[in-house]
Amino acid sequence: MGGAGAEDVEAVVVGAGIAGLATALALRRAGVARDVGGGGVVVLERHAELRAAGAALTIFPNGWFALRALGVARKLTPRYEPYETSVVTNLESGATQVFLFGGHKSRSGEVRVRPVHRRALLEAMAEELPPGTIRFSSRLTSISTEPAADGSSPELAVVRLDDGSVIRSKVLIGCDGVNSVVARWLGLSEPASSGRSCVRGLAVYPGGHSVKKELRQFLSHGLRAGMVPISDTDIYWFVVNNTIPAEKEAGGDPEMILREVTDNLGRHLPEEFLDVVRHSDRDNLTWAPLLYRAPWAILTGRAARGPVTVAGDAFHPMTPDMAQGGCAALEDAVVLARALSRRAGAAADGVAAYVAERRGRAAWIVAGAYLSGYVQQGSTSGPGVRAYAVKLFRDWIFYRFIFPLLADTMWFNCGDLTAPAPPTPRDAEEEAGKKSHAHYQ
Ligand SMILES: Cc1cc2nc3c(=O)[nH]c(=O)nc-3n(C[C@H](O)[C@H](O)[C@H](O)COP(=O)(O)OP(=O)(O)OC[C@H]3O[C@@H](n4cnc5c(N)ncnc54)[C@H](O)[C@@H]3O)c2cc1C
Repeated sequence: MGGAGAEDVEAVVVGAGIAGLATALALRRAGVARDVGGGGVVVLERHAELRAAGAALTIFPNGWFALRALGVARKLTPRYEPYETSVVTNLESGATQVFLFGGHKSRSGEVRVRPVHRRALLEAMAEELPPGTIRFSSRLTSISTEPAADGSSPELAVVRLDDGSVIRSKVLIGCDGVNSVVARWLGLSEPASSGRSCVRGLAVYPGGHSVKKELRQFLSHGLRAGMVPISDTDIYWFVVNNTIPAEKEAGGDPEMILREVTDNLGRHLPEEFLDVVRHSDRDNLTWAPLLYRAPWAILTGRAARGPVTVAGDAFHPMTPDMAQGGCAALEDAVVLARALSRRAGAAADGVAAYVAERRGRAAWIVAGAYLSGYVQQGSTSGPGVRAYAVKLFRDWIFYRFIFPLLADTMWFNCGDLTAPAPPTPRDAEEEAGKKSHAHYQ
């Protein structure tokens, strides 16, 4: 319970990752929580600074539509060139297939497929928030709800931080990632292990590299490796594989992670890929297990309770096989802020409308990503009829017919955010009337 001494704000966002920063920005742009300082939106981040684990990511058109709605796309697109193709080589058969991301869609403008440094994305959003919005070294430890003081207003969310402070808000959005405290409080199922993990790194060539601007991928025995240039000097690479790192390995000794890729997991990968791996920046290497929430749990689970909900990985963690987790988090932010702005004063209705709108799409993307990972690498490693059938399905059906359907989901436009019109004198009078009734303890 909050009690006296609690700070009161409009909105609390837990986590300053992609989902949290986008959500805070969206709430402000939609006019849901605009005030700076007391009363606006507060982002709680347990770390002492923004964290960009994973080095880079690809933003697909759906992510750029959302970033455009957030007013941030224009800051990033001049810096990051788009790429159009994915060239996939099956190392077992030697066959190479080329996929066009854009398909029949327009290939002009800022809405394209672009890789970005994670840090640049986070900073581009954070810079748009008023100073003091993000509270670093602030870990959420518990959540509750309580009726408003006079009983006339809707329920309030109350969070307690590890330093003992308490914040009360009209809406609470858990953007606290795959191991979300808020998702657990809501009662969503725990994320499941996909049985796979991913090593990621950023290769740096100070004198420039000559790697072509495309996503190059290699498939073999339970493994999918890929690399894509992000700039003239930087190349992002990853190795998705069928192992789970031990805790100490996932903890991240960079030399150990590199050795694992070059001498073990990826030793049979082409030299052009291993050369990129050897150029890795040691501060930007991670090896993490891949988790997801079952699509049916997203469809049927409790993702909203009163004024509390979740967004991004806290809502729909997914395997990275469609590179959609971050993009979907950006969509969430826009849809949530719009839903709340349309139901001013009734946060519970707003979050319920958001969950109703998002859960179908989120479940579809999670399922699509899982299927994509399964056929691309999941079960073609063993001998026998089943593995052969999966290979046939992958090469003759998945890439030709299913992949284009999944690719279409990456062109979803979540729509714009329009700030409400400035208040008229009558609105101001009504607001003043409301405030004289609704006070906090
Ligand atoms: C290998 C891999 C490759 C990927 N590639 C892509 C890609 O190319 N394109 C794409 O769109 N997506 C990609 N993704 C998915 C994407 O990385 C995630 O979906 C995205 O980062 C989720 O952002 P988030 O803000 O929801 O969660 P997170 O990034 O996990 O952020 C959560 C934040 O909450 C904070 N936090 C947690 N608990 C608390 C607490 N109790 N109190 C306060 N703060 C807390 C954390 O410190 C963190 O800053 C990839 C994922 C993986 C694993």
